[in-house]
Amino acid sequence: MLETHDLRKVYPTGDEALTSISTTIEGKEFVAMIGPSGAGKSTFVRCINRLTEPTSGTVELDGTDLTALSSAELRDARRNIGMIFQEYNLVERLTVMENVLSGRLGYVSNWAAFRRKFPQEDIELAYEILELVGLGGMENKRVDELSGGQRQRVGIARAVVQNPKILLADEPTSSLDPETSHDVMELLTDIATDHDIPVLINIHEVDLAVGYADRLLGLHDGELVFDGTPEELTDDT
Ligand code: ADP
Ligand code: ADP
Repeated sequence: MLETHDLRKVYPTGDEALTSISTTIEGKEFVAMIGPSGAGKSTFVRCINRLTEPTSGTVELDGTDLTALSSAELRDARRNIGMIFQEYNLVERLTVMENVLSGRLGYVSNWAAFRRKFPQEDIELAYEILELVGLGGMENKRVDELSGGQRQRVGIARAVVQNPKILLADEPTSSLDPETSHDVMELLTDIATDHDIPVLINIHEVDLAVGYADRLLGLHDGELVFDGTPEELTDDT
């Protein structure tokens, strides 16, 4: 379970991107954060794993306050958070399998660590997850041979192979065409429901959020202005 309390972010420029966000996200939930550009969506997602440091407030993951951790402790804690990026953040010259397996290493700064031997169980898990994301048989392709949609599936597989307590995605569809975006949303839905991993994404395409998410968080000027189901949102407007 993820719980934020009074999460606030003021950038050094003085921009108050998040005022005081308190919310809870639990298993099997696919939550989409929506709102206009500049609302603070990306900041919220990035504050959860401290890719952006919150100014104040707490972020608890299964009872551990991530904001209180030292950088060494945070490195370990981040293994519990699967992160999916808009621009995929894959290593282009490595294979699909190598990119996926890197999820088992946590956040590596030393790329040589990639080339080590992985335990057989990690490799088997990676194969299973490649099937799950629809990339079965693609494990030896280099990432630079893949389409955008395939790259995002590698990004998702890398996050799922971590066996995370939550999956976070920062605008996972904004580099993709509409059809591929639908496929990726469907995949995230399956992961939340079948694998019991809560998924939190931020997304600017409201129709995609309404079409797939179980719950929507509406952000405006750094404030939570809506928290409800897609049906409740469409009834409101
Ligand atoms: P969204 O994802 O909803 O488009 P962001 O979280 O990117 O919103 O931005 C929220 C606000 O914070 C905006 O006013 C933006 O200009 C500001 N902001 C975002 N990143 C930075 C940064 N690195 N430095 C200063 N201001 C920032
Ligand atoms: P070497 O020790 O010669 O570098 P490895 O056995 O470590 O070879 O494999 C190199 C890379 O190939 C690994 O990083 C991993 O991503 C991938 N890999 C390892 N075992 C398998 C396997 N059984 N099937 C597919 N890919 C594998």
